[in-house]
Amino acid sequence: MPLNFDLHAHSSVSDGLLSPADLVAYAAAKGVNVLALTDHDDISGLPAAQAAAEAHNIALINGVEISVTWKKRTLHIVGLNIDPNNLALQKALALVRIARDERAQQMGEGLAKAGIADAYQGAKRLAKQSIITRVHFARYLVELGLVKDTKSVFKKYLVKGKPGFVEHQWMDLQQAIELITQSGGTAVIAHPGRYDLGSVNMLQLLHEFRSYGGVAIEVVTSSHTPPQYQQFAKLAHQFSLKSSQGSDYHGPGISFMEMGRLADLPSNCVPVWQDWPQFQSMQ
Ligand code: AMP
Ligand code: MN
Ligand code: MN
Ligand code: MN
Repeated sequence: MPLNFDLHAHSSVSDGLLSPADLVAYAAAKGVNVLALTDHDDISGLPAAQAAAEAHNIALINGVEISVTWKKRTLHIVGLNIDPNNLALQKALALVRIARDERAQQMGEGLAKAGIADAYQGAKRLAKQSIITRVHFARYLVELGLVKDTKSVFKKYLVKGKPGFVEHQWMDLQQAIELITQSGGTAVIAHPGRYDLGSVNMLQLLHEFRSYGGVAIEVVTSSHTPPQYQQFAKLAHQFSLKSSQGSDYHGPGISFMEMGRLADLPSNCVPVWQDWPQFQSMQ
C-alpha cells in the first residue's frame, strides 16, 4: 500500500477546530500515514502534534502556512520540515502575529462603524489562546445570529470592499521562502488555484518563487478541481517544481474535504517527499 500523505492541515493553534493532538488522532483514524501540521503563522502546536503522532503511529511533518503579500495580493506559503526551534523563524512569526492582532483591532473598528460593536472582543474570545483570524470574526458574527454561516459572513463583511476588511501588509514572499529554507524546510505555494492571478502573474509568481529557493506547489488540494490538478501538474513540470498534496483540513463539518481522501498526484508529478530520507524505502 502506498503511504497516504496529507501535507496541509490546521489545528486550534490557528483557525482549525481540533487541538494539535486531536487533529493527529483524527488523521490517523482516517488512514493518513504522513501528516503535516501547517497552522497559519504559528508553529507552537508542533510539539504536542509530534507527541501525539508517536502515540498514533503516524509520521508528523513540522509545518507552517505563512501569509505573504505579493503584488498587493495575499498568498500562502507552506513550509514543510521546518525546524520548530529555529529562532529567526520564531521571531519573524511572532512579529506577524502582533501585526495580525493590530489588523484584527482595525477590523473590529470597521465592523463597529457598520453597527456591530465589540467584534474584536468576540472574535478574540472565540480564538482563545490562538492567533486571531477572519474565521474567528466569521464565527462570532454567526454566533450573534447576524449571518447564517461563515461563508456568508466572508461575502458580506470580510472581503475587499466590505466593512470588516482591512488592507494588510503580510510578510514579503522572498523573506517567507528564505525563513523556511534557512530553517531546513521546503517552501511550497499553497493552493495556487485560489489566487485568481491570471496567467501572466501566475507565471511571474512561479518564476520568482523558484528564484528565491521555492521548491514545490500544491497540485492536489481541496481548493482545486480535478482539471486544476492537471493544470498545476503541468506548470510544476514547466518550472521544474515538485508537487505537494494536502487537504487544508480545518475541522469536522467545516472543511471542503474529509481527511485521508485526497486524489493521487498526477503521474507526471515529482512528489515533494521524493527525497525525504525517512520515506525513501517506503514508497
Ligand atoms: P486570515 O488569515 O485572517 O485572513 O484568514 C484566512 C482564513 O479564512 C483562511 O485560511 C481560510 O481558512 C478562511 N477563509 C478565507 N476565505 C474564506 C471564505 N470565503 N469562506 C470561509 N472561510 C474562508
Ligand atoms: Mn485557515
Ligand atoms: Mn491557505
Ligand atoms: Mn491552510
